[in-house]
Amino acid sequence: MATWVYNFSKTPKKDKAGLKNLLGGKGANLSEMIKIGLPVPPGFTITTEACNEFYKRNRKNPIGLDKQVKSAIKEVEKKIGKKFGDKKNPLLVSVRSGARVSMPGMMDTVLNLGLNDETVLGLAAKTKNETFAYDSYRRFIQMYSNVVLGVDHHNFEDLIENYKLTKGVTLDTDLDAEDWKKLIKDFRDVIKREIKKDFPQDVYQQLWGAVGAVFQSWRNQRAKTYRKLNNIPEEWGTAVNVQSMVFGNMGDDCATGVAFTRNPSTGEKSFYGEYLINAQGEDVVAGIRTPQNITKKARLEAKSDALSMEETMPKVYGQLVQIYKKLEKHYKDMQDIEFTVENKKLWMLQTRSGKRTAKAAIKIAVDMVKENLIKKDEALLRIDPKMLDTLLHPTLDPKAEKDIIAKGLPASPGAASGKITFSADDAETLKSQNQKTILVRLETSPEDIHGMNAAEGILTCRGGMTSHAAVVARGMGKPCVSGSGTIQIDYQSKEFKVGNRVFKEGEIITIDGSSGEVMSGEVKTIKPDISGDFSKIMSWADKTRKMQVRTNAETPLDTKVAREFGAEGIGLCRTEHMFFDEERILYVRQMILSKSKEDRSEALGKILPFQKKDFYEIFSIMKGLPVTIRLLDPPLHEFLPKSEKEISSLASSLGISEKEIKDRISDLHEENPMLGHRGCRLAISYPEIYEMQCEAIFEAVLQCKKEKIKVLPEIMIPLVATGQELEILKELVDSKAKEMSKKYNQKLDYMVGTMIELPRAALNAHDISKHADFFSFGTNDLTQTTLGISRDDAGKFLDDYVDNNIFKIDPFVSIDVNGVGQLVELACKNAKRNKSKIKLGICGEHGGDPDSIMFCQKAGLNYVSCSPYRVPIARLSAAQAKILSKRN
Ligand code: PEP
Ligand code: MG
Repeated sequence: MATWVYNFSKTPKKDKAGLKNLLGGKGANLSEMIKIGLPVPPGFTITTEACNEFYKRNRKNPIGLDKQVKSAIKEVEKKIGKKFGDKKNPLLVSVRSGARVSMPGMMDTVLNLGLNDETVLGLAAKTKNETFAYDSYRRFIQMYSNVVLGVDHHNFEDLIENYKLTKGVTLDTDLDAEDWKKLIKDFRDVIKREIKKDFPQDVYQQLWGAVGAVFQSWRNQRAKTYRKLNNIPEEWGTAVNVQSMVFGNMGDDCATGVAFTRNPSTGEKSFYGEYLINAQGEDVVAGIRTPQNITKKARLEAKSDALSMEETMPKVYGQLVQIYKKLEKHYKDMQDIEFTVENKKLWMLQTRSGKRTAKAAIKIAVDMVKENLIKKDEALLRIDPKMLDTLLHPTLDPKAEKDIIAKGLPASPGAASGKITFSADDAETLKSQNQKTILVRLETSPEDIHGMNAAEGILTCRGGMTSHAAVVARGMGKPCVSGSGTIQIDYQSKEFKVGNRVFKEGEIITIDGSSGEVMSGEVKTIKPDISGDFSKIMSWADKTRKMQVRTNAETPLDTKVAREFGAEGIGLCRTEHMFFDEERILYVRQMILSKSKEDRSEALGKILPFQKKDFYEIFSIMKGLPVTIRLLDPPLHEFLPKSEKEISSLASSLGISEKEIKDRISDLHEENPMLGHRGCRLAISYPEIYEMQCEAIFEAVLQCKKEKIKVLPEIMIPLVATGQELEILKELVDSKAKEMSKKYNQKLDYMVGTMIELPRAALNAHDISKHADFFSFGTNDLTQTTLGISRDDAGKFLDDYVDNNIFKIDPFVSIDVNGVGQLVELACKNAKRNKSKIKLGICGEHGGDPDSIMFCQKAGLNYVSCSPYRVPIARLSAAQAKILSKRN
């Protein structure tokens, strides 16, 4: 029979990854902590395979699970000397989810399980603390009823609030055992009223309810959204950890806390965390009470009066320091740990690799190499390339005027401005209208995740650096200020107050997640500093990677940015973007409206000097690096005016009738423009267009030569399907080059190549490569034509495909390896068969996507090309691809 359950101290023999896949991250790490001798409360893990089996059996428990869980409980009982359901000495357990990767707050947890009307008496007698026992019982009823029985928690909170009002007290801690007993009775009446059943008294019934709820929560809406945002496959499933309870809420010699072995925001090598005296773990993470610092140093820096753990519990603090050091050495990575102190005894409840900002990830990786903990390759693999984005975008201009209205904790760095919005749904709606928002909440919860994703930044009034808002924002790379206590939100009237100032929904504010400042209005931002550790990591990446990284750029500004970010050439200069320039669009339109070749050539003659200047500027910035210029690609009607006003103004500029223009627009109309008269097909019909572009390129090259600027143009023909098309057009380029060379008596060096963006081209790469010096895979069009999905309309339904698991991810974002990928690999193989030295690259959007870059390395491409801001991402991804290719 399959093994569904493993005791923490008896795990199967598997490598680290295998263990995580089976037991989830939390389960695997708990057992690892036991192995290295740390104090972990005993317990067991129900595997992720059991979760998958649960779904296979239509949400029924796997066969044999029942027996295995019972025997695992027996082992825990033996270890801890308590009995599950025992009236005198009851064992209480926590039931928590634990997927392969951590999904903070997405799934369900039940604490204090095993309490009922009888065991609560035993707990009270054993701890000699009746208030604690009944407080735990009522917490359990609330949590269990909410998570397992589906009774909304406001039912219970309302009862507690009313009770406190009647008694004339304000805090939960003002209630004693007698109060809780009365409230528990009321709770049970509510449950009976809401679900027509009694609260379960049988402890095993409680346990099965909780285990089932954790399994079910793997497929709840918020977990699904989180998985989609983080590309976590549904088939991974979640494990369930059942662990004997330890209590941080039994008095003032108890505490609970969360800590990072290094600062997760800056990466600084200092122990960093928060704790609460006399509290349960959930109180810290949920942001209900604002926690205190663990170290004295952090408390002083925060100018807080609330004593640190180092000061209140020096002995336990000392043990915690020993443990965190041991953990960091063992895992060779920054750890995020959870602990509880029960009557001065320290227990470790969790360790995992800590989520961190991009800035921290880079600093930690560089520092750990210096400390000899890890090698450079490992450091490069530690950084998620997608996160670099947050470092490349603007921060607040230190010279800008700031009207600071409040301060909070610097929970996730970066600056953002936007309209105040108070609900996740509103943030999402405004995003769909292209409006920027700052989501302002008392605190966030997993239900807000879609709004956090839509907003530019997040501001909360409660909660610390480890609150939900802080953790999730860091994961998303969004700025966040948390725990800004002076802000008072009134959700009803959609406004917040700070002092005597009122800010209404829709007003603009700015937050700085690096300083914790909240400002009124929009504050100017500046470009980030990409030197220091960032440039060190980049230089390691450059030494490691094999593929080159180029950029897709056509303006001098983009070209300069890309050079600063380390682009090694231009992989795609889309010349049509230049045609839209205000100064020349008139001539472009004149060219399109021409009736004869002569008229067309005349109009093209007017465009030529502009194009020459464009190319000259780009060549000068790239100083000898390769520049791939793609000749005109889109269908001509894209350049014609759309509105009546524009048509009439064009008619008067060109001295022709509006009707003539409208007739031409209607002539050029196409049902399927993406498959129409575009790309090289334009030049087959009107060779003079490409001739003009080549003349402009060669003239620019000759001018650069005169000025001793090195140039290496690569002329690229788009949308080729057959060898004959390329043969004809290469001949066009060559004869233009010959003509110019003769005219100026100068040698011209250049290359001619093509985009591979049609399946037929990929299948006939052998033939096409006879006429090409290089191929560049245009995977935007290749995806469109291979899948038969319009790239302009896909957005409307691709989400449904991802939701239904038909695609794991949008194929326009990450390459469809089994379809488009096969064509790319085949084309590379066949092209190389004919021309072993042919240069191969990619210039579709996939060129900046880390997973696709991994694929490009395998396919044997020489370079990837992407938008300027993605160049550093591609440099690091290419290095990771190379390292991993050596390992596989
Ligand atoms: C492509 O199709 O992948 C490509 C780079 O060209 P464009 O996006 O301009 O069609
Ligand atoms: Mg294309």
